[in-house]
Parts: sequence; structure tokens; C-alpha cells
Amino acid sequence: MRYGIFGGTFNPVHEGHLHIARAFRKTMQLDTVLWIPTKVPPHKAAEDLAMPEQRLEMCRLACRGEEVFQVSDLEIRREGKSYTADTLEELHEMYPKATFCLLMGEDMFLTLLNWYKPDTILRLAEICAVPRSVGHEARLEEQAHVLREKGATVFLEQIPYLPLSSTEIREAVREGRSIRGKVPPLVEEYIRSRGLYAKGGN
Ligand code: ATP
Repeated sequence: MRYGIFGGTFNPVHEGHLHIARAFRKTMQLDTVLWIPTKVPPHKAAEDLAMPEQRLEMCRLACRGEEVFQVSDLEIRREGKSYTADTLEELHEMYPKATFCLLMGEDMFLTLLNWYKPDTILRLAEICAVPRSVGHEARLEEQAHVLREKGATVFLEQIPYLPLSSTEIREAVREGRSIRGKVPPLVEEYIRSRGLYAKGGN
């Protein structure tokens, strides 16, 4: 089995996430893409962060109807900070014969060596990255080279990205602008009905 492991804050999940998950599934020939919302993101400031259960639910709504997508509460259930290395070790114990492809955008890819236990990550997963901006191709290639020198398997996929971020969606909601088409309809409805990211908050 080939698993795509797609971790993120997903605050909220958006069409840019779905787009790369679908594309990676094809290019990396994945049997399953496991979406794993993080409980406490170790790499990011946690401002305006919806509750873990809400981000998990939005991922479930976004993945509804796409059989190869599964949403996991593994990191949300685990005590303490969410570290990818711990997650991969847990998954490796659960599925010792599986191949894990860690899916990520360029921002995460470029900081990978600053994550907790990067050597464990590189040992347990193939690294699959996509650009998220124009003009940083050389930096991405350089990073791929550095990681390969450390023994990693790295795939830099030339998947055209959608210029979307959770930050811009939270801003749009706060300012009362439409997010239609930027998140799946069920997620849009969830955000609206729970009052997430609105002024005065969660
Ligand atoms: P925020 O704006 O809050 O920082 P985000 O949009 O970066 O959030 P995350 O949940 O942090 O979303 O991202 C999860 C993963 O998806 C990361 O590896 C990130 O690089 C990747 N990603 C997010 N949006 C895109 C996009 N539009 N194109 C390519 N990769 C993306």
C-alpha cells in the first residue's frame, strides 16, 4: 500500500489543499491519502486557530465522497505537541509494509530540516513537495539536493498550485467577504453556521 500522508493545520481546509492532494494521488500513485490535522502546530503561531475537533470535522466534510481520502484524528488524540516524526513512527508500527509519501507545499518543504527529528522523517517517508509560489524553483531544487545527500527520497512535483491559503480565508471571513469557491461548499456552510473566524471569534 502506498499512503500519502497529508498533515496540516487545516484552519480551515481549502481548495488548494484538495487540489494538491488529488494531484499527488495521481502522480505518486497513492492508494490512500491520509489527512492528519495537527492538534498544536509546532511550526506556526496559533493565532485564530479553530478547535481541533472543528478542523477535523471540516477535513471530513471536505473529503466526503472521495473514497481515497481518509481523515485521521491520530494527532488530535495524542497528548502534547503534534510532531510528524512521532506520527510516522506510529503509522509505521500500524502498517509496517506500507510506503509513506509525506505530502507538502514549498513552505513546509523548505523548513523540513528544522522539524523535530528530521532524520526519522526522512527514514520513514518519501518527501513529496510542490511549489506554492513563482520564482523559487532553484531554492526547491537546492533543498531537494540537500535532503537527498542525507539519504532522503525526494519528489519535486510540478503540480500547478492554486494561490490560496487558510490565512486569506480567515481574513476574508473576518472582513465579511465571500469565500465561495475557495473552500468546499460544506466547509463554507460549517464556517458560517458556527461563526468561525468571524469578528469576535469562534
Ligand atoms: P495558513 O495560511 O494558516 O498558514 P495554509 O494555507 O498554509 O495555512 P496548512 O494547513 O498550513 O495551510 O497547509 C498544509 C499543507 O498544505 C502544507 O504542506 C502547505 O504547504 C500545503 N499547502 C497549503 N495551501 C497550499 C497551496 N495553495 N498550494 C500548495 N500547497 C499548499
